[in-house]
Amino acid sequence: MQRAAQVPPLAVVRGEGPWLFDDTGQRYFDTSSSWWVNLFGHADARINAALKDQLETLPHVMLAGCTHAPAVELAERLSALTGGTLGHCFFASDGASAVEIALKMSFHHWRNLGRSDKREFVCLRKGYHGETLGALAVTDVAVFRDAYDPLLMRAHQVMSPDARQAMTGESAADVARRATAELEALLQARHAHIAALILEPLVQGATGMAFYDPAYLRAARKLCDQFDVTLIADEIAVGCGRTGTFFAFEQAALPGEQAIWPDLICLSKGISGGYLPLSLVLSRDSIYEAFLDDDVTRGFLHSHSYTGNALACRAALAVLDRFAQEDVLRHNREQAATLTTALAPLAADPRIEHFRQLGMIWAFDVREPLIGPRFAERFHLAGRAYELLIRPIGRTVYLMPPYVLTEDLSQWLAERLLATLNYVLNQIPPDVDRAPEPPTA
Ligand SMILES: *Cc1c(COP(=O)(O)O)cnc(C)c1O
Repeated sequence: MQRAAQVPPLAVVRGEGPWLFDDTGQRYFDTSSSWWVNLFGHADARINAALKDQLETLPHVMLAGCTHAPAVELAERLSALTGGTLGHCFFASDGASAVEIALKMSFHHWRNLGRSDKREFVCLRKGYHGETLGALAVTDVAVFRDAYDPLLMRAHQVMSPDARQAMTGESAADVARRATAELEALLQARHAHIAALILEPLVQGATGMAFYDPAYLRAARKLCDQFDVTLIADEIAVGCGRTGTFFAFEQAALPGEQAIWPDLICLSKGISGGYLPLSLVLSRDSIYEAFLDDDVTRGFLHSHSYTGNALACRAALAVLDRFAQEDVLRHNREQAATLTTALAPLAADPRIEHFRQLGMIWAFDVREPLIGPRFAERFHLAGRAYELLIRPIGRTVYLMPPYVLTEDLSQWLAERLLATLNYVLNQIPPDVDRAPEPPTA
């Protein structure tokens, strides 16, 4: 708030593909897909058309005592994407609510099964699950959490499997093993009281793109089975193809082996393509069935006015159509390889460390001694001069672009990112004229 006068927010008036345009007509590449929500660019013709049709038909009806085709179809298609393993779908309207729902659902289902002592939650250090009180209680981001800490439910925090913690000679899988041991010790001791473990599969996003080995997910699945603990996969950031598979958790299984799944999946952000607020919690049939009872208080009650909004569901269907019709994941694999190659000089740059890429996420950390004051803010402002809308997290710079990369765009993006880094670290005035002519979208 205090910095708003020095760093005024960008007045965005128009979006087209990966570009945003401000009130002076300057364009910016949306490197973070507007907080990781926008999958197919801004003002996408096909999502627009689906929404216009829905707008003329049924913008919204309460999802209580009523239902509508977009919600039913969306639930069925998402369930099908889990091979039917997570056969049910609960609707809400934002990510934090999905997390609240998953936590409540886990606790309540154990209670209905006669195990009301199971009411504690386990989360990972460096995890982020949203900022309502329940979600914040399982979030480990000091800047969001500290002021409210006295209000929060107590949760168990265990070691993050963040691969950057590897000691000399250690692999990412070794770090995952150390983190697993800590989880196992906790579950061994407290399982009678623990309802659920919540985690972000493969990448802990909001705390700075902490990547970890999928071995951790396999181990967590085993331990949760062994100790009767609900496994909640918060796929709000990593779902919808971001890590290279539709659900990040799909990468938990070893190649050629049987798929493994969490018990609950939270989805939001990308699911509606960056158009409208929508979230969903997918659940296994066994959890659903624990709520079937004549006594309404044993049912699962959680309502938001705009739950399952028809426009948002229709946008989500248009997103799923793209995945079904265009082999988005293969396109992304090809484009990601191009961008990774274009970023190779940066990856080898001695001023940075931990260059990493998974699916459509790229990240690196600028070495601590070089960052100087207000690094993220200076980087953001320099980025604007190079036509990038970019917001580092601390000293972690990352790209999570919409799934519309081309070879030209990737080259351009890599050059502009390096130019921005050079400017910030050298304080050379930006000289956009010298940069290559940017391709038009
Ligand atoms: C963004 C995010 C949330 C919260 O979603 P909101 O819609 O912002 O409430 C929860 N979990 C993860 C992993 C997220 O990235």
